[in-house]
Amino acid sequence: RQLPADPNTENTIRQVYESCFSYVTPNNEIKPTLIHGSKEVGSLLGINNEDFDTKDFLNYFSGKKVIEGSTPYAMCYGGHQFGHWSGQLGDGRAINIGEVEYDHKKWAVQLKGAGKTPYSRQGDGLAVMRSSIREHLCSEAMYHLGVPSTRSLSLMKSGNEVLRDMFYDGNAAYEKGAIVCRIAESFVRFGNIEIFARRGDKKNLKRLVDYIIDEFYPEVKMDVNPYISFFKKVMDHTLEMVIHWQRIGFVHGVMNTDNMSVLGLTMDYGPYGWMESYTPDWTPNTSDVNHRYSFQNQPAIAQWNLYQLANALFVLVGEGKPLEDIISQYHADYQVKYLEMMKTKLGLEKYSEKDEKLISDLLEVMELTNTDMTIFFRNLSKVSKKSLIHNIYSEIELIKSAFYELHKVDKQALNQWYDWLSEYLKRLEIEDLTDDERKMKMNAVNPKYILRNYISQMIIDKAEIEDYSLLEEIYTLLQNPYDEQEEHEKWFAKRPDWAENKAGCSRLSCSS
Ligand code: AMP
Ligand code: MG
Ligand code: MG
Repeated sequence: RQLPADPNTENTIRQVYESCFSYVTPNNEIKPTLIHGSKEVGSLLGINNEDFDTKDFLNYFSGKKVIEGSTPYAMCYGGHQFGHWSGQLGDGRAINIGEVEYDHKKWAVQLKGAGKTPYSRQGDGLAVMRSSIREHLCSEAMYHLGVPSTRSLSLMKSGNEVLRDMFYDGNAAYEKGAIVCRIAESFVRFGNIEIFARRGDKKNLKRLVDYIIDEFYPEVKMDVNPYISFFKKVMDHTLEMVIHWQRIGFVHGVMNTDNMSVLGLTMDYGPYGWMESYTPDWTPNTSDVNHRYSFQNQPAIAQWNLYQLANALFVLVGEGKPLEDIISQYHADYQVKYLEMMKTKLGLEKYSEKDEKLISDLLEVMELTNTDMTIFFRNLSKVSKKSLIHNIYSEIELIKSAFYELHKVDKQALNQWYDWLSEYLKRLEIEDLTDDERKMKMNAVNPKYILRNYISQMIIDKAEIEDYSLLEEIYTLLQNPYDEQEEHEKWFAKRPDWAENKAGCSRLSCSS
């Protein structure tokens, strides 16, 4: 409302200047059916469980019908993709259908895959089932893992076919189209701000940033320079998000500035993945040949992205180099938060000058023996302080069960594990926590269940034959990823051998 709208309401691909968004109407040539709805997300919007089964729900959250009084729109943004400025991108296949105020909170409601917008460039504005299943499930999984994220209300089949070249190998094929309805306090990205700065449009840059501050960071308004405080807040939130990713072994895959939320929410789920065998250089995105967005690069890339945001805010800030001063703190802040986080994973509360070494030694040996990160940390909570005085054979067995290629692990590597475990057990001696207390605390930060790519692929394969039972099962499982769920124990397992090189089970392309 307060922001400048594109006066051109024709739905044609174009450059849009001096506007934050363009009005568009979602594609209504569809026959929507509901594949899955998140009742919990519904309750945030005041949608009752019964409402999910209504015609209205189907029509409104697929874009077939526009809710009365709403004026759907697509946002204009730019972005740095893989290190280079790409110019205007924008919501090429996302359409905001409105804002809901419920229970003292405001939510932006957005359809992904509901048709072309002025920002669709060469794209068709649509989304396929496999990537939509992945976005729907992962948004909710991340939220329940305690990671700030956009949420997903529903996953629908559009009834249309969508042409995709899944492996970029020249073999395009028709796939089922889908529409996800996602919600967030806001979908504003670094790129929304960057585009005005790049175009030298200071007036609209200021309008947009003032709006973001008003709506989402009102606490900085009274500060001497709100723009500087705003930047600091975005930096803190971004850092917090990345620390969570490193904690659970999540790799986003496409950390372009147009996929970076100004609220520090994980957003735009594409070829993301969880590290299985601990490999710092790993990325799930097969298009990222230089591994720019690998697991180990995520913290530094977040900082690089913050630099781009700082550049964009520069003209609003004026004299001096306050933004530079803030961003130069990033690395030190990260080190502190990272150490804190890793200590919680290890169940350590007291101070020891040796902790950094204990952690780096661990990461080294985990990598050396192809260790499943999730299984290792979960199992580690089972060790007992008393083991130190006995032999640690059973503890080593626990650790070995997380190795991917046990037969390749030599004696020297195993000795390295013995050494590490002995150090760890010695380190536990200075802790006051009992074994049970430590286990409880560790299990609250080391998830038992994650959305492994092979699991998503199994769900996708079943969805192909209209069997959504596994989708439902995994959705429910991931509502409590830190809890022991005996009936689901089979999902607490390493990626099976058959999945290692199967398409979609480990690494993915951007095709979506
Ligand atoms: P991504 O890297 O997937 O976040 O997308 C980068 C840009 O491409 C964004 O502006 C998207 O809106 C746009 N885009 C991706 N897929 C499509 C599509 N099928 N149709 C139109 N635009 C798309
Ligand atoms: Mg994106
Ligand atoms: Mg995407």
